[in-house]
Amino acid sequence: MAKVTIDGIEIEVPDGTTILNAARMIGGKVVPPAMCYYSKLKKTGGYCRTCLVKVAQGSAKDPRPMPKLVVSCSTAVQDGMVVQNITSPEVLEARRGVVEFLLINHPLDCPICDQAGECKLQDLGYEHGLEKTRYEFSRRKFQMIDIGGKIKLHMTRCILCYRCVRVAEQLTDKRVHGVMNRGDVAEISTYINNIIENDFSGNVIDVCPVGALTDKTFRFKSRVWFAKPMDAHRDCKKCSGKAVLWMKGDDVLRVSARKDKNEEIEEFICNECRFEKKKKEDWVIEKPTHISRQSVISQNHYEVSKPLKLGTGSQPPKPLLNTE
Ligand code: SF4
Repeated sequence: MAKVTIDGIEIEVPDGTTILNAARMIGGKVVPPAMCYYSKLKKTGGYCRTCLVKVAQGSAKDPRPMPKLVVSCSTAVQDGMVVQNITSPEVLEARRGVVEFLLINHPLDCPICDQAGECKLQDLGYEHGLEKTRYEFSRRKFQMIDIGGKIKLHMTRCILCYRCVRVAEQLTDKRVHGVMNRGDVAEISTYINNIIENDFSGNVIDVCPVGALTDKTFRFKSRVWFAKPMDAHRDCKKCSGKAVLWMKGDDVLRVSARKDKNEEIEEFICNECRFEKKKKEDWVIEKPTHISRQSVISQNHYEVSKPLKLGTGSQPPKPLLNTE
C-alpha cells in the first residue's frame, strides 16, 4: 500500500494505483478532468493532457519534486507522494492552455450539438477555458459522415481521444475504423467505405467525450435537459440489458448505457437495446437515473433518494413506473 496526499487530503491506495485513480477514490474537486482515459477500456489515456498534475514531492524516500507536470492517468503513486491539482496555479494555467488547444479546431456549435449538456469539453471549457479565442486561422473542416445506419460522425468536433478506437478494438470482433493520418490532418475514419456494423458498436457514442459521434436515431429530437432519464432493464441475450431511457412523456427518445460517478459506462450495452428497443413497453422502468446536481440535466429532475418509511419498519422503494 502507498500513502499519497492530493490537494492536502491523504489516502492509502494499493501499489501501482495511478494518481488519477487515487484522486477518484477521494472524489470531489481533487479529481483531475480526463477526456481520453477510460477505466473500463485498456490502453486509454495519455492523449489529451487535461489530467496534468504537479508532483510536489516524489516519495517519502526521495522527496524531490518532479521537474515537470505529469499526466495523472498514467503516473503511478509512490509512498509519501504529495500531489497538487487544483491547489497548484501552475496546473490551472497549464489546463487553461490544454483547453485552448483542444478548442482550436473544435467548433463552438453547442447550440445545435446533440451532446450539449453532457459534453465533457463543454464542462472543461466552462471551468478552465478562456472567454475568447486567440486563434486567427480557420478551423479544420470535414464533411459529416454516416458510419453505419445508426451513427453519425462529425469529425470537426473530434478531439482525437482514441476512446472510440479502443471500444472498437476491445468490444467488437472486427475493427473497421481508426485514426488516419497524423498531425493536423489526423482524422477518425473507416477503412474505405466500411461501416461500423457490430452488436456493440453503438458504445462508441457513449464513450465519445464530445459530440463527434452521435446517435442518428436521436439527432435533433430534443435537448438532453428536456428529456427525463430513467434507469430501466430488459431481458437481453447479448448484454446485461441495463440501460438509461431518455424519455419525453411516454416516448423513448434515446437509449444509452448507464454511467458511474466518473461518467464512465458501467456495462456496455448491445445495439439491439440501444437502437431497436424504443418503446416504453420493451422495458421495465426502475427509477429516475441519478444525475449530479452540477449537471444541467438535473433541472426539474426528481429522484427517489431513500426508501420511504411507512408505518413500522422501512419498505423497499417502489419503482415509479412499471410497464410489465
Ligand atoms: S470520435 Fe469521439 S471518441 Fe472517437 S476519437 Fe474523436 S472525440 Fe474521441
